[in-house]
Amino acid sequence: MSIAFTHSYADLPPHFYTEQPPSPVVDPKLLFLNNALAQELQLDQAALRSADGIAMLAGNHVPDSARPLAQVYAGHQFGGWSPQLGDGRAVLLGEVIDRHGTRQDIQLKGSGPTPYSRMGDGRAWLGPVLREYIVSEAMASLGVPTTRALAAVSTGETVLREAPFPGAILTRVAISHIRVGTFQYFASRNDSAALKALTEHVIARHYPDATGPMDLLRQVCTAQAHLIAQWMSLGFIHGVMNTDNCHVAGITIDYGPCAFMDTYIPDKVFSSIDQFGRYAYNNQPEIVVWNLAQFATSLLPIMGDRDAAIEEATEVIHTIPDTFQAAWLALFRAKIGLTTSQSGDMQLLADLMTAMAQNQADFTNTFRALSGDKARDAFTDPAAFDTWETNWRARLASEPDGLAERLTKANPAFIPRNHRIEQAIQAALTGDLAPAQRLIDTLTRPFEDQPDAADLRRPPTDEEAVRQTFCGT
Ligand code: AMP
Ligand code: MG
Repeated sequence: MSIAFTHSYADLPPHFYTEQPPSPVVDPKLLFLNNALAQELQLDQAALRSADGIAMLAGNHVPDSARPLAQVYAGHQFGGWSPQLGDGRAVLLGEVIDRHGTRQDIQLKGSGPTPYSRMGDGRAWLGPVLREYIVSEAMASLGVPTTRALAAVSTGETVLREAPFPGAILTRVAISHIRVGTFQYFASRNDSAALKALTEHVIARHYPDATGPMDLLRQVCTAQAHLIAQWMSLGFIHGVMNTDNCHVAGITIDYGPCAFMDTYIPDKVFSSIDQFGRYAYNNQPEIVVWNLAQFATSLLPIMGDRDAAIEEATEVIHTIPDTFQAAWLALFRAKIGLTTSQSGDMQLLADLMTAMAQNQADFTNTFRALSGDKARDAFTDPAAFDTWETNWRARLASEPDGLAERLTKANPAFIPRNHRIEQAIQAALTGDLAPAQRLIDTLTRPFEDQPDAADLRRPPTDEEAVRQTFCGT
């Protein structure tokens, strides 16, 4: 297995990471390989599927061109400061240039302990690996910026969590793994030289036209505001928006206790560890402001005159809600088929969503059904929809033709529903990978009807509903 890894991160100063090879596993087997992504990355699929390739994906074979390392970072977790985190169960093998010329990290997650493992074992089990594979790939197909999943292998080893589970490793692909927490790590150590080097690296890699740290802040704020708007438009709840899980390029990272909502519940929380609803669905737009205020604070030491920098950075942070609101409105207008903007649109959307919340309407299916005549069936009291529909039809009078097609493009038929992920994990635990494969395959085309997969569109029954998701760490 030969891969032409390059090493822009490893070339940063040595205190940005610790060199750390993955720990070999007993009996690696390939569970899933993402052929489409392998192609994007210009990697040879046959080689990845070979014994050598699988050994690499399991961490048993480190190609000569790799420079495995664990990245260091810090972060606020549920608001509390952790001065040192870092890759506790992951190593970066290196970077490859994809066929669009973009540099992509290749990282093994679940690859054994590192100096940043703290009390953890450095491993992952099949459940969270499958969850991340399925959800991150679905996000990519839904058009949301995200880390990707190239492969999942089983290790033949047991990982002890609430119970013993089969171990697994995810090969994660990302345009980088640099987090707000990476900046916080150096800022908290008063290491301005490192902050400058990191800023230059991030600008070169993600924001080539940014003129300096203030402009970087501005662009990260814009990217994150758009990302959260996309999450909201799909009913996605990240679950652990800690600053170490907040990517500076505005991509979704760290699929732990994440989930898509079924029934629309504005303050929905899934994560078992989120006791106070800090990362509830409707809190996400506020929490991202909090996270980016931490980012701004980290950049202050390299922003020149402190008072002037504080003033300007504060102004930038205060623009986030407006940027978010505009992005949100554009996405939700599209979801109800509007191409033009009128002053009453916000109210029209608010009315729909209030009715959805009051009538236990399924988030995904309600919007998707707008293109047919079934949306009212999603409401416990269909009359609540009828009232809204009258206003909506009136508004649509000033819109061009092609409504059904617009709606279908803006509203997915398929999301990775939590109960289906759970069922796929349970099947995989018995050795049956077919349900997971079917989910993965269906979700590569989430905007197509795919009648054969109609069952995957159905909300969970009471027995099927998954009420909590766990971090799986
Ligand atoms: P997360 O909640 O997944 O974002 O992880 C928070 C921190 O805990 C990161 O530094 C992870 O690397 C670390 N971590 C999570 N699970 C493990 C594990 N099983 N072993 C070692 N470190 C872990
Ligand atoms: Mg994390």
